[in-house]
Amino acid sequence: MADKDEKTFWVGFDLGGTKMQATIFDAEFRPLGSKRAKTKGNEGAEAGVDRIIKLINEAQVEAGVTDKALSGLGIGCPGILDLDRGIMHLAPNLGWENIKLKDILEKALKCPAYVVNDVDAGVYGEYRFGAARDAHCALGVFPGTGIGGGCIYEDRILRGKTNSCMEIGHIQVMPGGPLCGCGRHGCLEAVASRLFIAASAAMAAYRGQAPHLLADGGTDVAAIRSGALSRAIEAGDEAIERIVRQAAKHIGTAVGSVANLLAPDIVVLGGGLVEAMPKLFVEEVREAAEKQALPSMAAGMKIVAAKLGDDATVAGAAAWARRSVEGNGRK
Ligand SMILES: [Zn+2]
Repeated sequence: MADKDEKTFWVGFDLGGTKMQATIFDAEFRPLGSKRAKTKGNEGAEAGVDRIIKLINEAQVEAGVTDKALSGLGIGCPGILDLDRGIMHLAPNLGWENIKLKDILEKALKCPAYVVNDVDAGVYGEYRFGAARDAHCALGVFPGTGIGGGCIYEDRILRGKTNSCMEIGHIQVMPGGPLCGCGRHGCLEAVASRLFIAASAAMAAYRGQAPHLLADGGTDVAAIRSGALSRAIEAGDEAIERIVRQAAKHIGTAVGSVANLLAPDIVVLGGGLVEAMPKLFVEEVREAAEKQALPSMAAGMKIVAAKLGDDATVAGAAAWARRSVEGNGRK
């Protein structure tokens, strides 16, 4: 066994709205220890940060890696971030405000820590180890409760001066359309997120147009998860299939518009909905994106489903920490 006191190990952390995960990686990014826990929205930031550190320590014990052996840590976070200073300004789902995550984690674990947007970390993970490996420009789109986006451009996470960018969920695809959670009308998220799909599906079930969904998930929007939608389509609920395909088309149109600006060579689609129905999503997004993108952009663009699932964020965050510590020597 390698000397686990030598500085060759990296921590990836995924701080999600409902769950968190800590994984310790070796120098080849093989996972040596991994721990998950629920995120408790109501426990307050101080207790929450203590649990982050505790979870990392538990993963270290599983991996047999001491603090002395940690080279760096990357943490994928939701909300509004100051990326360089590593401050979480606001995470509405967690109820956290102005948390100096970088400082706190560096002090606790005695290694450099990097705060990354969670979707960016996931896309970086797919770019380094998954479906978008070695792309020149990888665009990631993750439809879930909202619709997250991220872009890796020439081995860098595309970002603003202090904050993250690629809010593809708030591209307008339907002027005057439904109200979005952000307060604007007709955003992609307002017509294609899982929340919108589930609400439309619940209505169809209530109207008697989706008997299989009605029997399986009922009409409770919160209970209509990706699996229930996929099972209903499988069983023959055509109304549900139309709703999901229409949502995927909207995502494709937005992807095509972004393609005209960035010319991604790989577009990765991920998240629970895509995992439950990869073929349907890839098909519809590809068709709509190819219609919206200029032919020269569409020609060089591959659209694929993500490969790493939930592990993309921890792997991407850890790899980004290493890239930040060691500079751009990788390429
Ligand atoms: Zn919006």
